[in-house]
Amino acid sequence: MGGPEIDRLIGLLAKLPGLGPRSARRAALKMLQQPETRMLPLATALHEAARAVKPCASCGNLDSRDPCAICADSHRDRSLVCVVETVGDLWALERAGVHHGLYHVLGGTLSALGGIGPEDLNIPPLLARAGDGTVREVILALGATVDGATTMHWLADRLKPLGISVTRVAQGMPMGGALEVLDDGTLAAALRARRPS
Ligand SMILES: [Zn+2]
Repeated sequence: MGGPEIDRLIGLLAKLPGLGPRSARRAALKMLQQPETRMLPLATALHEAARAVKPCASCGNLDSRDPCAICADSHRDRSLVCVVETVGDLWALERAGVHHGLYHVLGGTLSALGGIGPEDLNIPPLLARAGDGTVREVILALGATVDGATTMHWLADRLKPLGISVTRVAQGMPMGGALEVLDDGTLAAALRARRPS
């Protein structure tokens, strides 16, 4: 259309979630028309984020600091750890302001069909954290999928012998969906009404 640079830009934008080829073309055009105010600041932000942001060694959250801002916050309840599948789920809970403990991001769920075992996920560090004597309760907040349920069961079996109270979030979790699609009120209700696992 306008040279290989534009094609490449549109091609990369179109791979982003929520953007198809049509939205990618519109976004590219908007940026190309305002290179100084739109495009170069975005390029700088992308470059800096790619260089600085890493998973937190303790919880798996993404941050430019390690430990992340949540793990480093002395006002948070360190005896309470909420286990989620993705950083997107963590962001949803933070946005809703419903959890005042720490988190642990698994990076997925166990899957017999997909060949995903505990070592493929951020599970060994969770078991190590849970055994250090600080954690009293682990809230399992995984999606209501078969693999999510299997993973919560598997984790409960290993956490309870460590003397930890294991709970799971209550009703309102989407079937086969992720936490991050829930509205704040539903998230708060699901967390408040957690029950023993
Ligand atoms: Zn962290």
